[in-house]
Amino acid sequence: MPVRACFDSVQIKEVHAAREQAAWLITDYYRVAPREWQKMPYEVKTLRALDRSEITDSALAQTLCYGVRREVGTLILEEGDLYRICLQDHRILDAAQRTRTELKAMLTYVLTHELVHVVRFGQRMQAIDLAHELRPHEESKVEKTTRSILAKTVDPEIERILSSNFTAFH
Ligand SMILES: [Zn+2]
Repeated sequence: MPVRACFDSVQIKEVHAAREQAAWLITDYYRVAPREWQKMPYEVKTLRALDRSEITDSALAQTLCYGVRREVGTLILEEGDLYRICLQDHRILDAAQRTRTELKAMLTYVLTHELVHVVRFGQRMQAIDLAHELRPHEESKVEKTTRSILAKTVDPEIERILSSNFTAFH
């Protein structure tokens, strides 16, 4: 098994900060009320917490959908989808280094992109089991939306990512 670098405790704090910023940008763009957003069934996991099947070396992150069901005895309390954003620490660290950008900006970029997927999944604008040949088209749409959302940040570090033609997503 190759050794893949994981975020350290300082970098994990940046993940939390970037997650907050990305969520703010997304709710602002899609006009989602905070209460609605809180019901959005997603979670963010870093490499250390990923299952082997959730790790990839060919993307900075991937969002997977799991069916969840909460039950007490025979009673089903809740049933629905859970979107897990699987951050690939090693790939993100490498991308930040290659583009000479701060990790926080790279994380905001990645998380915004993945949250656009989450919103599109949630609104059934994107199918979970999208056929392979349709994926590049969906990706370019998501990436375009991500870029117009991020253009509003006026953050020079994020601008550097946007202007570097950097894309490494599924
Ligand atoms: Zn994507």
